Amino acid sequence: MSGVAAEALTTDDAALCLRAVGKSYGRIRALDGLDLVVPRGSVFGLVGPNGAGKTTTFSIACGWLRADRGEVDLLGGGAFDPARHRGRVTALPQDSALGRDMTVVDQLTYLGRLQGVGPREIRGEVERILKLVDLTERARDRIRTLSHGMLRRVGIGQAFLGDPELVLLDEPTNGLDPRQAHSIREFVAAQRGTRTIVISSHNLHEIETVCDHVALIDRGRVVMAGPISAVTGRDGEVRIGLAEGPVPLAEVRAALPGDRTEWDEAARTLTLRFQEQAGRATEDVIGAALHALLAGGARISSVTRGQSLERRYLDLPAAAPPPLPGSGAAADP
Ligand code: ATP
Repeated sequence: MSGVAAEALTTDDAALCLRAVGKSYGRIRALDGLDLVVPRGSVFGLVGPNGAGKTTTFSIACGWLRADRGEVDLLGGGAFDPARHRGRVTALPQDSALGRDMTVVDQLTYLGRLQGVGPREIRGEVERILKLVDLTERARDRIRTLSHGMLRRVGIGQAFLGDPELVLLDEPTNGLDPRQAHSIREFVAAQRGTRTIVISSHNLHEIETVCDHVALIDRGRVVMAGPISAVTGRDGEVRIGLAEGPVPLAEVRAALPGDRTEWDEAARTLTLRFQEQAGRATEDVIGAALHALLAGGARISSVTRGQSLERRYLDLPAAAPPPLPGSGAAADP
């Protein structure tokens, strides 16, 4: 696995920790020794192709499914246990089942009480959530009369009832219109530091803007994980595009001794790769490079830090399919 290794964080620092978790559905191996450490207070993105194991990971974390092997820990209290985790861990499942004939307000009240919100607080709490997901006007309507996106918003809202410490959101903005998706993203990003949120999404731009950490799952394993800035190389890589004209490489190299500079003539892009150093921020590296380029007569057309998460994702080699249980190849211990 590249990025930050699971061992780098201890269970005490983690809101969610899965170690060597395996899960098969008959002959399908959905999780194949998955290691995942979600730091407390982070907004953590889980990405991966269809069938990678994201929903299975969520289901095991929430206690809806049991792992075949491995360890699961939520908030330092072991695997999900209603007595320890009720109200502290909440989730938006991929397909949330709501009571079709209940009104929105009754549904949220019922779920809020289940999650431990007290009888005196529940009314104000439901009003807060209705406002948050922009459903105040539909509060008295029955669930069955809501559109797909509105149902999704009820599901998101119920996950934030009370004061949960760990919230698991499986594809929260799937099916929302752009304005609603934007407001949910803003709300989630604003929660950073107050609670831990894990989001699975196929929208890599969303993960990059909302999350501070990310793990990429492929075929039941984490293949890359760490802070977004490390995964995208924001603090160790800069690309500078140059228009037609001089390319004063020697000057840049003299200004940045010890750093790697690569010139791609076809793309007219200069890539700088550097290590973090005490007293030198990425901005200082950009400044020194631009100064040298301008002094050498270069015409700068763009400056980009790191690579997009989408590019990192697309550049990862496709993993070989895991062997089927009982196939005789590398199998469970
Ligand atoms: P997606 O992005 O498509 O939602 P995912 O990453 O959430 O996918 P999972 O739903 O966890 O992936 O599925 C992982 C693997 O387990 C897939 O091969 C899937 O077909 C299989 N799987 C999931 N649920 C079941 C089930 N109930 N019975 C049999 N196989 C299942």
